[in-house]
Amino acid sequence: MTAPDHIIATTPASDRRNLLGLTRSQLETFFVDLGEKRFRAQQVMKWIHHRGVRDFDDMTDLSRALRDRLSQIAEVTPPRIAEQQDSQDGTRKWAIAVEGGSLVEAVLIPEGDRATLCVSSQVGCSLDCTFCSTGKQGFQRDLTAAEIIGQVWLAINSYDAWQSGKGRVVTNVVMMGMGEPLLNFDNVVAAMNLMCDDLAYGLSKRKVTLSTSGVVPNLDRLAEWADVSLAVSLHAPNDQLRDEIVPINRKYPIERLLASAKAYLDAQTDKKRVVTIEYTLLAGVNDSVDQARELAALLEDYPCKINLIPFNDFPDSGYQRPSGNAVSRFWQVLTDAGFVVTVRTTRGDDIDAACGQLVGEVVDRTRRAERHRAGRSAQTLLESG
Ligand code: SAH
Ligand code: SF4
Repeated sequence: MTAPDHIIATTPASDRRNLLGLTRSQLETFFVDLGEKRFRAQQVMKWIHHRGVRDFDDMTDLSRALRDRLSQIAEVTPPRIAEQQDSQDGTRKWAIAVEGGSLVEAVLIPEGDRATLCVSSQVGCSLDCTFCSTGKQGFQRDLTAAEIIGQVWLAINSYDAWQSGKGRVVTNVVMMGMGEPLLNFDNVVAAMNLMCDDLAYGLSKRKVTLSTSGVVPNLDRLAEWADVSLAVSLHAPNDQLRDEIVPINRKYPIERLLASAKAYLDAQTDKKRVVTIEYTLLAGVNDSVDQARELAALLEDYPCKINLIPFNDFPDSGYQRPSGNAVSRFWQVLTDAGFVVTVRTTRGDDIDAACGQLVGEVVDRTRRAERHRAGRSAQTLLESG
């Protein structure tokens, strides 16, 4: 329940420059401005992101004088862990205290040789989707780039991975924690840049996913800045319903959103990529067979796969999670229409690890098909998570 001993309490904000959130080019500029060689940035990045070193004194390939100078003007400060919880299924969740006294969450979900970290981008969210607990909190502030990449740093650090040199603690990152990443554009782009930089976390672009509820003007310019995977939170097969449950739809309706996401894909060099369409299933609201058919028609010929997320309940939500049968029926209609459809089942139930929203295990079609062959009903499957 408490932060482990090896996680050092962080100092409050100081005047010193926090190097944790600087991209390679920003750190190069920092060193050039100091009158140092550009490649100092590479050395320091490796210390911070590959080895988890925060103390400039320990960066032994820098001169004594430079180390002293850095200690005076800079720092490597991750956000502070308020609480760490481990689930019986291996899921680990952090409540992270950010400046101003608020908490954000990050969750790591190991599954086989993969481990997906769900990262927050804002404290609260202004978009107010009706089924989202983060939305209900309202918006407080954007996270800094250091606070976003700091979640990756803390997650890895919490496993002592730097010391042991064991396999990768984090193999995938999804920007699906608290907040709308496209409303914190610059900091999210910088943090994603570090996630993919070989001198930092070296994740493949396919394994970093930005999820958006549809801030179209910023999605329109995303391709200039990033080429990570894209997930679009659709949740409804028509504008009438989406206007109600995802209010930003009133500004940027479905057709514009899907066109913008497609343009993002078209700008990528990897032409095999698709958009992940997220669809949170809310009992009696958007989970009928007719709505599944309408969704299939809407997405016909659209380059996508569909991720169904049975609603994660929270107190006073006003919504209910559909039955396993309802989820199966919805899945079946889409699958019969030829879509690749995954169903997310909750992980870390014992520590309430929903990350404010959807963190969970993806049960992919292949595994589902295998389990079908093994003679299990779709309902058992969906509920067995
Ligand atoms: N703001 C971004 C990313 C964070 S939310 C977005 O909306 O896409 C990540 C996903 O969780 C979104 O698809 C969101 O709609 C979904 N979600 C939010 N609350 C949920 C809940 N209570 N149960 C299931 N999914 C939820
Ligand atoms: Fe914000 Fe995403 Fe929650 Fe909507 S679902 S309120 S966009 S965090």
